[in-house]
Amino acid sequence: MDFNVEAIRKDFPILKREVNGKPLIYLDNAATSQTPQQVIDVIVDYYSNYNANIHRGVHALSQEATDAYENARRKIQKHFNAQHPYEIIFTSGTTHSINVVANGFASLLKEGDEVIVSALEHHSNIVPWQMLCEKTGASLKVIPMSLEGELVLSEYDALLNETTKLVFVNHISNALGTINPIKTIIEKAHSVGAAVLVDGAQACPHLKPNVQELDVDFYVCSAHKICGPTGIGMLYGKQEWLKKLPPYQGGGEMISEVTFEKTTYADLPHKFEAGTPNVCGGIAFGAAIDYMNTIGFDAIANYENELLEYATSELLKIEGIKIYGTSKNKTSVISFNIGNIHPYDLGTLLDKMGVAVRTGQHCAQPIMDFYQIPGTVRASFMFYNTKEEIDLFIVALKKSIMMLS
Ligand code: PMP
Repeated sequence: MDFNVEAIRKDFPILKREVNGKPLIYLDNAATSQTPQQVIDVIVDYYSNYNANIHRGVHALSQEATDAYENARRKIQKHFNAQHPYEIIFTSGTTHSINVVANGFASLLKEGDEVIVSALEHHSNIVPWQMLCEKTGASLKVIPMSLEGELVLSEYDALLNETTKLVFVNHISNALGTINPIKTIIEKAHSVGAAVLVDGAQACPHLKPNVQELDVDFYVCSAHKICGPTGIGMLYGKQEWLKKLPPYQGGGEMISEVTFEKTTYADLPHKFEAGTPNVCGGIAFGAAIDYMNTIGFDAIANYENELLEYATSELLKIEGIKIYGTSKNKTSVISFNIGNIHPYDLGTLLDKMGVAVRTGQHCAQPIMDFYQIPGTVRASFMFYNTKEEIDLFIVALKKSIMMLS
């Protein structure tokens, strides 16, 4: 590995800390990633030097903050290769972005229409659509999954028809790490005239999506999964769709004219950005994208694949282990159980040894129901993890197993 992980780790102050007297081994990256000093500095600089409300101010601070915020929007546009900056809507995160679209489609769907979800979704990409179906009378169909944790595309073909209006699927599953064939899913949906929303929350830390090449209608993600702060994310939408959808929230910033008789809405992107936005978060989101691009997504993918292969082969040496999600197309997530040990017990003991993993359903109860398990232990990697950390994780895991058997 000629990836200079030791230099990269120095960018992340949190990686120096101890937990329960042991060096932190942070393997809960699919829940949230850590923040490099370069992004922390941008946040401190904002509040130290140019904190102001944006867009309406004539004074210097407001202008500086507005420029930095809009500059971040353009960075994000360029990163995802959107055609226009106003196709990038700042939201509080993936969940908010999905709700904006689901709410908007309530005015476009009617009884008899169908929408399609996949069996591999996070609750964020299930519940808003169920609420949409309740409001409109549309019905929800599900693309099933296989034991390997892949979507069964032949079943998807059978679900698609001229009443299908929308398909929503994640790019990468947070519970299993499977990379879904979204290009094919999008092409097939478009062949029957349906729009597609891709939940990119787990993909954006590991690859660089190209929304024009994918021809996706909506693509959503959260900055906190890609070395940015919490409370900020994005909704990419093709301009024709964003123009068609009604606003999600009413308030300041999103209007053109307001009288008590009638209000007209502002142009994109402001139509979907009511109220004072998370200015600092937007700017820091841009800085996080810069940081990730400085490392480079090809280098990130190569290194993380090595980590994934190494961790998988080491884990498979443990007696009684069962790994869920064995697709060849997967990223840095390993979901597993050991015999009948409850994942929560393993997670608690691992924490005592400084290892942070996630346990439970991972906001994906249908996947756990499919495997008929209460949950899993999930270890998820980022480019700042190391083989040495994986070795220490395995040692801690073996100790935990011994204590629980
Ligand atoms: N979708 C997926 C696939 C996720 O992994 C997550 C975060 N765990 C979300 C949606 C929700 O993201 P957020 O909580 O940042 O809105």
